[in-house]
Amino acid sequence: MALIVQKYGGTSVGDADRIKAVAARVAAAHDSGNQVVVVVSAMGDSTDRLVDLAAEVSGGRHPREMDMLLTAGERISMALLAMAIRDRGVEAMSLTGSQAGILTDTSHGEAKIRDIRAIRVREGLDQGRVVIVAGFQGVSPDTKEITTLGRGGSDATAVAMAAYLGADVCEIYTDVDGVFTADPRIVPGARKLDEVSFEEMLELAAAGARVLMMRSVEFARRFNVPLHVRSSFHDGEGTWVKENTMEDAAVTGVAHDLSEVKLTVRAVPDRPGVASAVFEPLSSAGVNVDMIVQNISHEGFTDISFTVARSDADRALGLARQAAAALGAGGVSLDDAIAKVSVVGAGMRTHPGIAARMFTVLADAGINIAMISTSPIRVSCVVDAAVAEEAVRLLHDAFDPPFEPQEESI
Ligand code: ASP
Ligand code: MG
Repeated sequence: MALIVQKYGGTSVGDADRIKAVAARVAAAHDSGNQVVVVVSAMGDSTDRLVDLAAEVSGGRHPREMDMLLTAGERISMALLAMAIRDRGVEAMSLTGSQAGILTDTSHGEAKIRDIRAIRVREGLDQGRVVIVAGFQGVSPDTKEITTLGRGGSDATAVAMAAYLGADVCEIYTDVDGVFTADPRIVPGARKLDEVSFEEMLELAAAGARVLMMRSVEFARRFNVPLHVRSSFHDGEGTWVKENTMEDAAVTGVAHDLSEVKLTVRAVPDRPGVASAVFEPLSSAGVNVDMIVQNISHEGFTDISFTVARSDADRALGLARQAAAALGAGGVSLDDAIAKVSVVGAGMRTHPGIAARMFTVLADAGINIAMISTSPIRVSCVVDAAVAEEAVRLLHDAFDPPFEPQEESI
């Protein structure tokens, strides 16, 4: 008998028929003798619709009420799924995040899980029930308020639950077959990966691969929870995300991200303290900066470019303008038509030359690189948004991931 945590994303519970199909899968797992905890997302794109609805009734920011609103989405799917499972003769019970003991910090909209006291989940399992937990939500023991974990947060709920319960596996059911070597909508030849390491999955998620929420991968890695990302539409094996994989490909995947914008602070005086003057206010305001490039100084002045999430663009622009004025810099420009394309592979550590090859592929196609950043297992380039898809296709063709160079480099 195994303990399985299954998480179903929005599409997998998108309508009554889909919910019944999920119920059949859950009941089958239960009937084969497993203990099953199910974590659900809100149906289809209902979270987006609630966000839009809120914007229609109010122009203001209401973090507490937004969390009250958005958590309703997951409550709907959990209750419906419990009913459908009970119809199959299996005892099932749904619990909100708070009832399930997901304890978070106090921040609304982007709360972090601090602790788990899943007493009622354990009780339910001990009574032979399937326990369904609403994803994406918790409660702050300090404020007694309901919180949400950030978009895509049901993945985090599932992994945290699996870690706490010591589950044998955390299955992430979704509308794609697994983790691919590139977005299959852009690269028709993209392949499903059988396995990928936590480390690579983290880099892929940070580079824009949207199949798993990044924080949930961090969590899975920290607590060594094996993840199985698979389709809810069939029984085929998906992608295993785990600590160690058989091979370390030099390039495991090509990812792209259109969710960031680039700001450039122009003609900043080149003296100690300027980077701090630009980035300190951003960090205090909670604006996450991804890539940073400081150009070579010309006659005592330098340009500083950096990227932030599109949703932070206005705030970042305001703060950068203030900093630029205080420093006597030339001004700030915003480029919102950029894309980040990345190649990721743990084998990059032992196979040099991946970055150079990437630059050559882009150069041969006449694609200009605006920024470059690297980690030991990733190379990312910022390019024009208009050529992002072409860049992804060319890089996927060139590296043909999972790519293992034949000859050993000495
Ligand atoms: N329903 C939430 C969202 O759409 C959480 C999730 O799907 O994981 O972001
Ligand atoms: Mg969703």
